[in-house]
Amino acid sequence: MPETIPQLNMLIPLYNEEDVFEELMRRLTAVMDASKLSISVIMVDDGSRDQTSILMKRQSLADARFTSVFLSRNFGHQLALTAGLSYVNASEAVLILDGDLQDPPELVEEFYEQYKLGYDVVYAVRKTRKENALKKLTYKTFYWLLKKISYLDIPLDSGDFSMVSRRVVDEMNQMGEQSRFLRGMRSWIGYQQIGVPYDRDERQAGAPKYTIGKLIELAFNGIFNFSFFPVKLITNVGLLTIVGSLIYLIMTLVKKYAFGQVPEGFTAIITVIILFGGVQLVSIGILGEYIIRIFFQVKNRPLFIVKNIIHQQQITDG
Ligand code: UDP
Ligand code: MG
Repeated sequence: MPETIPQLNMLIPLYNEEDVFEELMRRLTAVMDASKLSISVIMVDDGSRDQTSILMKRQSLADARFTSVFLSRNFGHQLALTAGLSYVNASEAVLILDGDLQDPPELVEEFYEQYKLGYDVVYAVRKTRKENALKKLTYKTFYWLLKKISYLDIPLDSGDFSMVSRRVVDEMNQMGEQSRFLRGMRSWIGYQQIGVPYDRDERQAGAPKYTIGKLIELAFNGIFNFSFFPVKLITNVGLLTIVGSLIYLIMTLVKKYAFGQVPEGFTAIITVIILFGGVQLVSIGILGEYIIRIFFQVKNRPLFIVKNIIHQQQITDG
């Protein structure tokens, strides 16, 4: 039997989501039944240790619109999504969303409208978050910092919840980088991108699966994959230190020859210590520049992506 190709996929990573699973299936099925679009779901089990994988299996066997992919262990959200992206079969686009219903699947129609207007990436921008104040503040600060220091224009307050076109998925699947920060890669790919504001709901059931450790790792991947700022910072602090030590030396020399009142030997030691501290920082910064270049070479991202080509064909009659 030939595989029926849906217009859209919905891609959902699941890690120990037994508490929310039933409600998730109810909402997804309702959306798909009501929609004129042909939609199929790809669920990725990220090594769950509860009943999630059994529930997924049952769902996929009962309803052909649901594909379940099971990972061999817990690889983390970004890699679960990466795995899922390699199973995308939709002809048009993919909606990426969390399994805890914080990202309402009902928005698929609204995102699709934007896609139809020619946007390859339609990303959700959180108008509001129903989370505790500390978490909100941490997120806000992180996104603000990332936007400030990144070499890319990564939009504020947008996560992985988005609809991406088939060609963007194909590009992502080509990108072999190990440390994956999908929302950054998505920005890097380009084309027309647009943000759609939405209210981020509360998790419908179960506890958050992102631990503090996993969140920090994600933040580090964002910063170190999409910013040169830390290395530039080292170099600049080094340069400032060198300049500072030289100013100190000149001031002391002026004091000595104009007023003749400086302690013997002290200046030389202080100047040399500070000066060499600066020289070492600059040296580390220079090594950093090489490491950045090796890092990008090893990542082997495409150098550019062509959107389209126009070439006037020569028409020859007869
Ligand atoms: N998730 C996953 N692997 C993990 C952690 C989370 O697949 O190691 C999934 C999780 O099941 C959910 C989504 O990623 O569908 C977002 O996780 P969570 O709701 O815990 O993140 P938060 O909303 O707190 O950022
Ligand atoms: Mg969540």
